[in-house]
Amino acid sequence: MEIARSVSEFRALRARLNGPVGLVPTMGALHEGHRSLMRRARAECRSVVASIFVNPTQFGPSEDYTQYPRSEEADLAACQEEGVALVLMPPVEEVYPEGASTTVSVGDLATVLEGASRPGHFDGVATVVAKLFHIAQPDRAYFGQKDAQQLMVIRRMVRDLLMPVEVVGCPIVRDEGGLALSSRNAYLTDEERSQALAISRGLRNAEQAWRDGLRDAERLRAPVHDEVARQPLARIDYVSLADAETLAECEGRVQRDALLSVAVHFGRARLIDNTILKVQSS
Ligand code: AMP
Repeated sequence: MEIARSVSEFRALRARLNGPVGLVPTMGALHEGHRSLMRRARAECRSVVASIFVNPTQFGPSEDYTQYPRSEEADLAACQEEGVALVLMPPVEEVYPEGASTTVSVGDLATVLEGASRPGHFDGVATVVAKLFHIAQPDRAYFGQKDAQQLMVIRRMVRDLLMPVEVVGCPIVRDEGGLALSSRNAYLTDEERSQALAISRGLRNAEQAWRDGLRDAERLRAPVHDEVARQPLARIDYVSLADAETLAECEGRVQRDALLSVAVHFGRARLIDNTILKVQSS
């Protein structure tokens, strides 16, 4: 495995890789969720490239950019174990050269849910992913369904800007209790962690109600909201049931595939999770 700490170094090494090349963009603090993306890429591509870059422009001014967990040594070991051929770890100054002013602006998809709670977040994500695509020139790029709206935003960007990359969405990886793995889970105390299991419990209850035929939007949000609201340490940001293509909030009877998503603060951690309620199982 090669490690490139500058873009020029990366480009020279990338030129030698056999295609198809799969890219797994990450912010490090790697866990099984990231590893599942690497394994999928490994299964589908001749060479896998991973990037480890904590992107400052996707963090709001009062968010955790400076405290975001960093674990370079363990991350590189994980990449090596998963068969990554080349790791990109660029310095911030190179990704954002002095005076950089060109950005990718995503539009309406970026204004709701995570975008409403984190203004500017998705423009930061889209901008850095566009840069990573330009640097890495992947044939395929792997993203987790854990960040469902991010996946939609990337797909939209790739379509709108005619980027020659196939975007592959991968299932959410959870711990044995059901908690979706996240680098930010490291912020949780034991008590917060055990209360945070209410999130996936609520989602599972809603999925069951959906399978039993419930279609009323408000009553599908309720199991998640109620389960989480019962936790004394939870502060709910949103519980949403939205059209899975447009992210327009559902009202009344749900007729099309819908994204049930939730964001909750537990202490220092802001956790997100989701499930897609499909009208017809595929
Ligand atoms: P991050 O390092 O948080 O920017 O995440 C990098 C990639 O890993 C993103 O595409 C995430 O959606 C994905 N990811 C993070 N957590 C999980 C998880 N629990 N299951 C699947 N994918 C994940």
